[in-house]
Amino acid sequence: MKRVYLASDLLDAQIAVDILAMRGIKTHIFNAHAAGGLGELAATQIWPEVWVEEDEDAKQARMLLEETHSAKDAGSKFCPQCGEENPGNFLSCWHCGQALV
Ligand SMILES: [Zn+2]
Repeated sequence: MKRVYLASDLLDAQIAVDILAMRGIKTHIFNAHAAGGLGELAATQIWPEVWVEEDEDAKQARMLLEETHSAKDAGSKFCPQCGEENPGNFLSCWHCGQALV
């Protein structure tokens, strides 16, 4: 098990998991239910963490997530499922929820 991603919120973590699942990489989210501790813990302690099950998947997983996040500045994206235009920083379609890769 290796941590590959520190998400800003649970949706962000879930999108990362979906992206990796599409590539056949098995993952787990930790801290998923810790959001109730907000205000008691430092913010970074409750960020959901995405871990890969197989250590050898870690490098590829980080690369895929980095690609996804660097695409944020690339203007708008069109949803592969419904064709709706989304801002380039969206990881999933605002209209139908499809992951935008
Ligand atoms: Zn869509």
